[in-house]
This record gives sequence, structure tokens and C-alpha cells, in this order.
Amino acid sequence: MSPARMELPGPKAQRLLQRDAAVVSPSYPRDYPFVIERGRGTRVWDVDGHRFLDFAAGIAVCTTGHCHPDVVRAVQQQAEQFLHISSDFWHEGFTALLETLSAIAPFRDGAKTFICNSGTESVETAIKLARHHTRRPRFIGFHGGFHGRTMGSLSFTASKATQRRGFFPGMPGVTHVPFPDPYRPRLAVHDADDRLGAATVRYIADLIFKTECPPEDVAAFLVEPLQGEGGYIVPPPDFFPLLRELCDRHGILLIADEVQCGMGRTGRMWAIEEWGVEPDIVCSAKGIASGLPLGATIAKPEVMSWKPGAHGNTYGGNPLACAAANVTIELLRNGVMENAARQGARLLQGLQALQAKHLSIGDVRGRGLFIGVEFVKDRHTREPDAALRDRMVTEAFHHGLLLLGCGRSVVRITPPLTVSDAECDEALAILDHVIGLAEAAQ
Ligand code: PLP
Repeated sequence: MSPARMELPGPKAQRLLQRDAAVVSPSYPRDYPFVIERGRGTRVWDVDGHRFLDFAAGIAVCTTGHCHPDVVRAVQQQAEQFLHISSDFWHEGFTALLETLSAIAPFRDGAKTFICNSGTESVETAIKLARHHTRRPRFIGFHGGFHGRTMGSLSFTASKATQRRGFFPGMPGVTHVPFPDPYRPRLAVHDADDRLGAATVRYIADLIFKTECPPEDVAAFLVEPLQGEGGYIVPPPDFFPLLRELCDRHGILLIADEVQCGMGRTGRMWAIEEWGVEPDIVCSAKGIASGLPLGATIAKPEVMSWKPGAHGNTYGGNPLACAAANVTIELLRNGVMENAARQGARLLQGLQALQAKHLSIGDVRGRGLFIGVEFVKDRHTREPDAALRDRMVTEAFHHGLLLLGCGRSVVRITPPLTVSDAECDEALAILDHVIGLAEAAQ
């Protein structure tokens, strides 16, 4: 039976939207009018009592689902103790979090960590740290990358021109190169044995380093192990090992931006672990504290060697956010991450079955619960179909499924890592129906 269509927004939601429109910064990118009242696990309800499955999870944030009882309890208990102490002082939750991050960091010999409040701050910290440590001025980022919207991170962000339009000049010294996208490769490979990862690293070594950006001037590469906003892209397996070799050859640091793909979302704690590559610095945020604002810049101890006063903040390590992060990581290590791997495989298989049925699906890819579904006008030309994707996302909302787009015509499938078999099957049934509706409206 087809899922029922809801008339949205309801009257209470409409009233809030009207009040909001009068006072909100118009810069927020909002795709459809969902006004939340409450959430539990993978379910959310709007102010008019409509129920939804949340497969956006606050842009891949609500790792343990909405209001996991252990997280709520830890935050409540902390709120009874103290709400704030600045990073000039010490508290148990902060130090315990750093110890855990040192134990789980994708480095052989532990880590030192700087705590902040968001993804963009974790990236700003990484950029400053890389310059400070190497005493080199320049960086390399990737087309399609997203790293935040403050001036330093924005200078690397290159997933949509609207994010940069009107804000030039940014931070000087950032060169962009193509990210190896197996579905839409930008660089030619030489022969059948050649690989896209090798072609990308060769492009950097033979062209960028020899013409405009000498390697001895480069402090770091800033790269997402799986590209998020750029379209949920999984790079080919040869890319990161070769990039690591290139870094080692020239004394360049490798910064892995795991803000979106990290913290168990791919079924591993860190996405980059898949390729057996050790970065030098990792940026984390989003899923780390189940929705409370917390960012972390995690570095090899010898890299994070700056002196007191070189970097700091007021709110980083907020006790409520630390309490949430400590419980979140414990839950991840005790079954939640495993569930992400299992449900990811279930969803990937279900989505591949939908691809066999719906011609508009050009590609399905991902790891764990970091999955992208790309819509195309024609499977041979691979021309993106953003209009169909947008129609499908809107219809999904009206049928009780929250989704978010990314790239040019991709939908991301990012439920909480606690999602159940039944919820995955329900989402697949809604997707099947609404993709059919969007195709029929062509
Ligand atoms: N890095 C990546 C990979 C992201 O996906 C994002 C946000 O989507 C950021 C950094 C910026 O994080 P925030 O929005 O918390 O500043």
C-alpha cells in the first residue's frame, strides 16, 4: 500500500514560518517547511502532530538518535552541577573526553586535542596549527570540498559557488585541485591499469607543484575522506595511500576533515581508517556530541606543539557538550557503530534494488550510513537532474520522510546510527513511492 500524503505545513507551522520570515537572516538554505516539536530515536514530530522518519539527522549530527536517554541523563546531571567554566580552568568531563579521543584517534601514538564548538572552528584550528607547525604559508584543498563558512575554512570550501559569491578575498594561499570522483572523473587515466587516485596525485605532483605551488611552500592538504556536501563521494582506494606518500615526500601535513563522515557514521570510528592511512590532524564535530555543539581538532602529539596563548576560546569544552560527547562515544563503541555498518549494508542493498527499478537513479554509493543517491536525466550521459531530486525530496517530506540534498543532484541518506531494520524498510518503501511520483511528474 502506498504511504499517505500529508498536507504540509499545518496551521501551527504556518504561523511560526510567518513570524520567522519577518526576523530571520535570509541566508539559511532551507528546502521545505518542517517545524519540529519533539524527537525520539529516528522519529520526529512537527508542531501540528505530524510524524516523520528523520533520515537527515540534523545534517548527519544526531548520531545516537533524538534524545537518547543516556545522553539526556548525562546532560541533565551536568546541568545540575555547573553550566560553564572557561577553558582557563579544568573539569573532569573535558579531560575524560580528551583521553578518549587520544585512545580512538587514527594515530599510532595517541593524540592531543583542541576543543571548540563547531566544524568550522575545528577547521580554523587545523589551518592555524598546520601553519604554525610547518612554518609554511600555503595549502591545497579540493573542488567539491566543504569545510565551513568562516573566512579561513570558507577559503577551502568549494562545493557551491553561492557559498563564496560576494565574499572574496578569502585567506590567501589556497590552491584547489579536483577530488577523485569515480562517477564523474575530471582527470583522464592513462590506460587500463591506471587509476583515478593515481591520476589525481600525479596531477598535483606533475602540474600543480611544478607550475604554481612549490611543495616546500605547502603546509597541508585539507581533505574530506568521503566528500559530503560535494555529493557524498567515495574516492577510489588508491587515492589516500598515494596522497599520504606525496605528503611524506615533501614534509606536508595531511588534515582529514571528518566533521561529516567521522564518528562512526561509515561503520568505522574514522572514515579514513578504510585506507589504512594515518593523517596528521583530524577535524571532528557534528556527530561527536549527539547534537550539542562541540568540535575537536585532534593532532599527533608532535604536531600539536604550540605554546600557551597561541590558540584558545571561551566556550570550547562546554561541560554540557562534553557530557554528551563522552556518552555518545561510549554508545558508539558499544554497539551503535556496529549497527551503522549493518544498517548501512541493508540500506545500500535496498537502494541498489531501487536503482534497478528507477531509471532516474544514476548512482548509489557510500559506506555505512553515509550514502548518496544521485539522480540523472540519462544514465549514459549522466547529466544531473536537480529538478527531479528536489521534487523527490519535497514529496518525501509530504510522505513523512526527512531527507537533505547535496552535490548537484544527490540525496544523502544519513539516519541516526541507531536506526532499526523496520525503520530502514519503511524509508525504502517511501523512497520507492516518491521517486516514482517524481519520475511520473516529468
Ligand atoms: N567540514 C565538513 C566536512 C562539513 O560537512 C561541515 C558542515 O557541514 C563543516 C566542516 C562545518 O561545520 P559547521 O557547520 O559545524 O561549522
